[in-house]
Amino acid sequence: MKSYRKELYFNTSTRRAFINITPQIEECLRESGIKEGLLLCNAMHITASVFINDDESGLHRDFERFLEKLAPEKPYDQYDHNGFEDNADAHLKRTIMGREVVVAVTNGKLDFGPWEQIFYGEFDGKRTKRVLVKIIGE
Ligand code: ZN
Repeated sequence: MKSYRKELYFNTSTRRAFINITPQIEECLRESGIKEGLLLCNAMHITASVFINDDESGLHRDFERFLEKLAPEKPYDQYDHNGFEDNADAHLKRTIMGREVVVAVTNGKLDFGPWEQIFYGEFDGKRTKRVLVKIIGE
C-alpha cells in the first residue's frame, strides 16, 4: 500500500471565504501516483472547513446568509468564547460545515458525483492556515 501526505496553505484577504480547491487536490492525487484508494482532506484549524458542494456563486451567498443566521459574527459579546478572541462564530460555522471530506479514488481520479467539488471554507481568515491531504491505496 502506498501512502501520501501533503499540507496546503491558505491565507484569505477576508474574514470569510469559500475557495474551490479541487484543482490542488487533483494535483496531489497525480503526484501520489495512487490509482485505487481513498483520499482524505481536512482543515487543520478549528475555525475552517473542508466540504463538498456545487461551485455556484448564488449557492455560496446562500451559505453565507444561512451561516450568519445560525451563528452571526456580531455582536461579539453574545458569545462566552469571545473573551480574548472574537471568533466564536467561526468555531460554530466550522462545526456546521464540517472538518473533512473523504473521496474514493478510482482509476487515478476523484470518484465524484455530478457537480461535486471540494471547497475550503474560511471563517476566521487573514492569516495562514493549513489543509491536510492524505491519500492511501495503490
Ligand atoms: Zn477561538
